[in-house]
Amino acid sequence: MEKRLFVIAGHGAGDCGAVGNGYEEAERARALAQKIKDFGGAKVLLADFSKNSYRSNIIGKREIPKDCVVLELHLDSSKNEKARGGHVIINANFKADKYDTALSKMIADMFPGRSKIISGRTDIANVRRAAESGYNYRLMECCFISNAEDIKKFNSNIDAIAKRILACFDINVQESPKKDNVSKSIEEIAREVIAGKWGNGATRKQKLAAAGYDYKAVQSMVNKLLK
Ligand SMILES: [Zn+2]
Repeated sequence: MEKRLFVIAGHGAGDCGAVGNGYEEAERARALAQKIKDFGGAKVLLADFSKNSYRSNIIGKREIPKDCVVLELHLDSSKNEKARGGHVIINANFKADKYDTALSKMIADMFPGRSKIISGRTDIANVRRAAESGYNYRLMECCFISNAEDIKKFNSNIDAIAKRILACFDINVQESPKKDNVSKSIEEIAREVIAGKWGNGATRKQKLAAAGYDYKAVQSMVNKLLK
């Protein structure tokens, strides 16, 4: 059986992680994790976003299904705003496997800057716990949240990063679940807009676009229905 991917977004539950350029690590890691799930479908499982997986210790408690490979997502930060680049952290006692190799090449290709793209560590709790619990695990620092170019690139390429991560784990990219929503008619959506389900102004415009709808078409239907 092909392996499933279990994604942990770092920090959370009151710990926002690193902060930089107006962004918070816990939020950005969750945004990427959700994209991985959206494009990976049933092959991807997500750790509970409301929890801090480091503190709740889902790895040490062996709460992750055994048929999963595990990826924990973080964003780096540094006082040196020029520091940039992504890398993968594995247990120093292990050799990099095919997933680690693919992932490190991918992230260094998108976010170059690190001299070492795979680092062996034993001083990180989840890295150690994963080894003790027998999980196939790696932690990826996607890029530097403290570097303006890195975080800008991360934000504008989040779909591509998610898809490339899936490819590293041999998981096929599925069409986003957006497609299901698009099958709703413009009139149905317009009625939802009138019922207040899509917010107002810029928020409405952004939400509709994100869900794959033609904002102008929906808005003109709204106007028509309200006449
Ligand atoms: Zn972190």
